[in-house]
Amino acid sequence: MQPALTTASIAQRVSLIPVLNDNYVFVLHGDGHGPAVVVDPAVAEPVSTWLEQRGLELSAILQTHHHHDHIGGTPGLLERWPQAAVIANGADQARIPLQTHAVQGGDQLELLGRAVQVMAVPGHTAHHIAFYLPPAAGDRGHLFCGDTLFAAGCGRLFEGTPQQMQQSLQALAALPESTLVWCAHEYTAGNLRWAAAQQPGDAAIQMRLAEVEALRAKGAATIPSSIGLEKATNLFVQARDAEALRRLRGSKDLWRG
Ligand code: ZN
Ligand code: FE
Repeated sequence: MQPALTTASIAQRVSLIPVLNDNYVFVLHGDGHGPAVVVDPAVAEPVSTWLEQRGLELSAILQTHHHHDHIGGTPGLLERWPQAAVIANGADQARIPLQTHAVQGGDQLELLGRAVQVMAVPGHTAHHIAFYLPPAAGDRGHLFCGDTLFAAGCGRLFEGTPQQMQQSLQALAALPESTLVWCAHEYTAGNLRWAAAQQPGDAAIQMRLAEVEALRAKGAATIPSSIGLEKATNLFVQARDAEALRRLRGSKDLWRG
């Protein structure tokens, strides 16, 4: 019997903690003291300090995939909050240890009073999953997509095929356009410079590149994006088929700019 995940409080915000070179750890939490959910903790510090300073108690960790820069902080956070649930793809138990709740695509959860839908999004890894929170109580929807969909980019194909990645991106693109997209790396400026080089006449890409470069010049995050913005400016989301995605991925993998 797995422990219940539901708590009474309503999650009201998502916060972002920059760690390592370009990773983001996300925290879903309410106003004031109470429970919090952490997504893809690359490291335990400074996440535990961030939570403690705000009087937040870790109740669950969501893991999108097995790479160390997404699960590396989980053991340390569990030392501090041993009761926290660890929610990950049960098909990847060997590579994502410490799971308390094994899930798969199509599963529904409830966390901090919010519905959470698990989506299978293979491509970057074979068992990559995403977590989608539909809109609720005046708040927009939120998508935690790990290294599948990036702002103006997508993850490298370490284990999956172009067809899998194309299908995964299309499944994410089918979410409401207002959905906030919390991707796990700050790759946006480089992705847009590459995209602008591919499509020099694309005004939407040019405008976004200028906005993103202004944010980066201030040291600000370019995350979250939105599904609508990705549909307008992400060449991988716009790829019509697996062959188009394969060509784009090859171009991006070789690009140094
Ligand atoms: Zn990864
Ligand atoms: Fe990563």
